Amino acid sequence: MNTLAVASSNLGAIDAAHHLHPFSNMKKLNAEGTKIIERAEGMHIWDSTGKQYLDAFAGLWCVNVGYGRQSIAEAAYKQMQELPYYNTFFGTTTPPATLLAQKIASHTGPTLNHVFFTNSGSEASDTWFRMVRVYWKALGHETKTMVIARKNAYHGSTVAGASLGGMKWMHEQGNLPIEGIAHINQPYWFAEGGDLSPAEFGLKVARELEEKIDELGEENVAAFVAEPIQGAGGVIVPPDTYWPEIVRICKARNILLVSDEVICGFGRLGSWFGHQHYGFEPDLAPIAKGLSSGYLPIGGVLVSDRVAEVMREEVGDFYHGYTYSGHPVCAAAALENIRIIEEEKLVERVRDDIGPYFKSAWASLADHDVVGEAVSVGLMGAVQLSPDKEKRSRYAKPDDIGTLVRNQCVANGVILRATGDRMLASPPLIISRAEVDQTVEVLRKGLDVLRDTHRD
Ligand code: PMP
Repeated sequence: MNTLAVASSNLGAIDAAHHLHPFSNMKKLNAEGTKIIERAEGMHIWDSTGKQYLDAFAGLWCVNVGYGRQSIAEAAYKQMQELPYYNTFFGTTTPPATLLAQKIASHTGPTLNHVFFTNSGSEASDTWFRMVRVYWKALGHETKTMVIARKNAYHGSTVAGASLGGMKWMHEQGNLPIEGIAHINQPYWFAEGGDLSPAEFGLKVARELEEKIDELGEENVAAFVAEPIQGAGGVIVPPDTYWPEIVRICKARNILLVSDEVICGFGRLGSWFGHQHYGFEPDLAPIAKGLSSGYLPIGGVLVSDRVAEVMREEVGDFYHGYTYSGHPVCAAAALENIRIIEEEKLVERVRDDIGPYFKSAWASLADHDVVGEAVSVGLMGAVQLSPDKEKRSRYAKPDDIGTLVRNQCVANGVILRATGDRMLASPPLIISRAEVDQTVEVLRKGLDVLRDTHRD
């Protein structure tokens, strides 16, 4: 018996004694006990009691190719034997890091041809945040340093990442945001659209960018950042009018556009990257998650020719990087992950087959009494819980309501996530039609419980 097997009989107590979890109320967690996930295969995970779950959330929006891919494990093992580590600082590289940059660039549009590697999405946020300032300074625009982001956005947990994010409750911990960041409203029509049509509202919130630039002075603004679809904030799908107007404003005002592709990248929306789904080309794009399907930690920033050229020709040394930037084992795993996505045509599958199937199954939930809207793009969906859909009203305690439905789903064997009063799905791209049906059925049962137990 190995040490892990011996310890697992007592893992709950060991965890309570020694392990501080991210984004968890530790007092509550220790009292209730940690769920220990021991094994996974395809679409499923198993906990230490042997209970099986359909993982309709792909871990944390990341296991795009599903669990149990032997070829990714083998690619990592082989690379670890050949060259377990070498860095990409000071004029060196490794074959997997270089080949991965080329491979990623083969799936971007015409201008995003360069990759700066990180270990996570948060580090990617810190990376482009520094890079946009360095870029403008090199061009002689020393004052162009402010970044405009959105309320309720999520861009990571590092100091810059959490500051760029628009979550107040995160800002309250650690005296954030740092200076130089301003937030505008999100395109959340259901909650904030008032009497406007979604199209009108999309334009209105996009134009807040222009107003904010005027307020701050164009000469002081470096960039605007947004997720193509705001993920952790509740899968906020923007009205169709939103992105074209944002793109127009960024061009007209000469500020860099950053598309946070950490969730939307690598097939989730039925395109390689979320900005392709919305038909625009950003200047920079942080990536992570689906890049390796979570098998090993790796992230990066896609950098356009426009920015890369200035970094190369004008800046020279960029004093930024991580010991493990472009780690060869993570890069080898990511290369194999992308090879699988290509070979199994998972992006096309989401666009033409399972995405449309998911869309109609998910949309069928809109009939339910407690559902205000049921929206999705590709394999990313949200159900808005509402006690009165005509009035677009909200429950008095949105977090409790979401948790109630989420717990029902988990008890019935399907992992979904709740963000406040929105139920979120983001399954692996290999999900079958029967598994989509199972997800929707189990969620519907959870919604029944909400309807039968809560009035407001
Ligand atoms: N950006 C977005 C849009 C994200 O969803 C996340 C993570 N959920 C991050 C950045 C941060 O990524 P990481 O957790 O890998 O640091």
